[in-house]
Amino acid sequence: MVNIKNLSKTDKEISYWLKKEAVRQKEGLEMIPSENYVSDAVLEAMGSILTNKYSEGYPKKRYYGGNEFIDEIEIIAQERAKKLFGVEYVNVQPYSGSPANLAVYLATCNPGDTVMGLDLTHGGHLTHGWKVSATGIFYNSIQYHVESKSGKIDFDELKRLVKEHKPKLIWVGATAYVYEFPFKELSEIANISGSFLAADIAHVAGLVIAGAHLSPAKYAHIITTTTHKTLRGPRGAMIMVTKKGLSKDSELGEKIDRAIFPGLQGGPHDHTTAAIAVALKEASKANFKKYGKQIVKNAKVLATELIKRGFKLVGNGTENHMNLIDLVPVFGPGGGFFAQYVLDTAGITVNKNTIPGEPMSPFYPSGIRIGTPALTTRGMKEKEMKKIAVWYEKIINVAKVYSLPKEKEKRKEYLDNFKKEIHKNKKLLEIKHEINKFASKYPIFAWDR
Ligand code: PLP
Repeated sequence: MVNIKNLSKTDKEISYWLKKEAVRQKEGLEMIPSENYVSDAVLEAMGSILTNKYSEGYPKKRYYGGNEFIDEIEIIAQERAKKLFGVEYVNVQPYSGSPANLAVYLATCNPGDTVMGLDLTHGGHLTHGWKVSATGIFYNSIQYHVESKSGKIDFDELKRLVKEHKPKLIWVGATAYVYEFPFKELSEIANISGSFLAADIAHVAGLVIAGAHLSPAKYAHIITTTTHKTLRGPRGAMIMVTKKGLSKDSELGEKIDRAIFPGLQGGPHDHTTAAIAVALKEASKANFKKYGKQIVKNAKVLATELIKRGFKLVGNGTENHMNLIDLVPVFGPGGGFFAQYVLDTAGITVNKNTIPGEPMSPFYPSGIRIGTPALTTRGMKEKEMKKIAVWYEKIINVAKVYSLPKEKEKRKEYLDNFKKEIHKNKKLLEIKHEINKFASKYPIFAWDR
């Protein structure tokens, strides 16, 4: 953790909770697939005096004075991203992944136009047209799905929907999908209707750079990504336009820029821009390639070990950084909450998630998503994954007597009671102690592995 000696003096409350969180991050096993730990260099850029500056506009075209150094930082970030991802145009100003995606709609569609993305309950992201998101409210959103058996995108349905609805924009990418994203197949399908194809690689950006996942640069017109997941940078995002995108619309870069500012945002977060540039430099090093490949190796070993212990995994394993455990055989429908809670109590952080063909609901989903990016940053490898799989078995076994009541009015009391019992469980406390001791031995960020 970077030094907080001043904060500790001036704000005891915030520094108290910050230190508590630092201990939680060190002693626990962080397995939410979208989370990671950044280097001290990224933290330093993020916590720098760059937060003091206003710089609405773009390099050399600002609405405020005093931006001559900020311009250089933003240009470096853009150039590093262009080189790493092999794209023609980059905007590094989106505040996060969701506004980046909204900007893509603003740049390519008019309100009411038809758009298409993967259904949220099938692994898609809110911003790919889900009904409660602005993207599903202001656009005519048609959602495609995965096959319930394999968890793979149902290409027959997708082709049929594209021919019928002729969307202006199609999304490829997801938040819970265990296969490599089929960029080539999606680009062929988008060609049928002449649609823009946007690849959202928020989850796999680091794997793409490491050569551990296919790059969408040849296939998509636009690429969006968050910078804080496998890319291991600050919370932020980028929108990229490919060569293919510029040949479809030579003004696409300018349209994206206008959609971000003044369309959706005000002044860019220059401290974040600098931290993105630092993260991109780190990602260009040979050890980042090793890191990205190790993430996938770890996820595969974890899958094999969990299956050996009787767990049911969507797709029987993984091709990327995450596994999706189908918990219906353990708890019946809606058991994701039990698993998340019991694992959290024992020091493993995961998140509950829907499974393909979800038999319950997004609020009480029947699975959990588990990822390896953060543990891999700490230097953990196959050996550690084997050990962790044993803990999963022991921990889930503690909770397998519970199941979600069918009657909605009984659920609150049942879950309150479950939580109380779990907190008193001696076996879980012993496991938590073991996990805390184990995790504390690893640095938060291991450069060399
Ligand atoms: N796209 C995908 C695929 C995501 O998984 C996420 C976040 O989980 C986002 C976009 C949105 O990113 P943010 O939470 O930074 O708005």
